[in-house]
Amino acid sequence: MAKNKNLPAGRQGNNPDLLAKCSVCEGDLEEGDMVVLEDQDQRTTFHVTCPKCRTSSIVLISNSQAGMVSLGLATDLDSEEVRTKFFTNSVSSDDVINVYQFLSGYEGEFSGLIRS
Ligand SMILES: [Zn+2]
Repeated sequence: MAKNKNLPAGRQGNNPDLLAKCSVCEGDLEEGDMVVLEDQDQRTTFHVTCPKCRTSSIVLISNSQAGMVSLGLATDLDSEEVRTKFFTNSVSSDDVINVYQFLSGYEGEFSGLIRS
């Protein structure tokens, strides 16, 4: 069931941690700085603060039919603000995508956070 070859040995599983790096300084994002906002079978959304530059990001990792997809974007909201604004009610995947579009207006590559 190893769905992601990029995961280091021993890291396979449901944890999305250590997949991502900071989109600003490219520092490694650490598990202890992550706050899971939503965790579903095929998708995990979490807020993470870079330990180096303190930039906060929202990261979504989804297992789709096309494989694992990771989206991330910088935000100036802290994890509680994000949770309050966007995750107080159950949301659909479309809602999550809308959040990203709303926050970022970003139409380009989301691959900056993916460690290859
Ligand atoms: Zn950083």
